[in-house]
Amino acid sequence: MTNELKFKCSDCGSEDFVHANSPNIDKNMVFCGGCKKQIGTLEDIKKATAAAQAIKLHKLRAQIFSN
Ligand SMILES: [Zn+2]
Repeated sequence: MTNELKFKCSDCGSEDFVHANSPNIDKNMVFCGGCKKQIGTLEDIKKATAAAQAIKLHKLRAQIFSN
């Protein structure tokens, strides 16, 4: 697993994101690289990504043990 953020803009579908400031600290505001929509802080995105991965794992587990 990498630390790379996999997150898609809900408006334009772009996977490019830009940070308002550097260095990349968790409180930095992140914007969509496609439509410039404000996404949230880096911390928000990390949490959302972790939550999405947890759901994916949960579904996988449910599939494995469903039979
Ligand atoms: Zn966008």
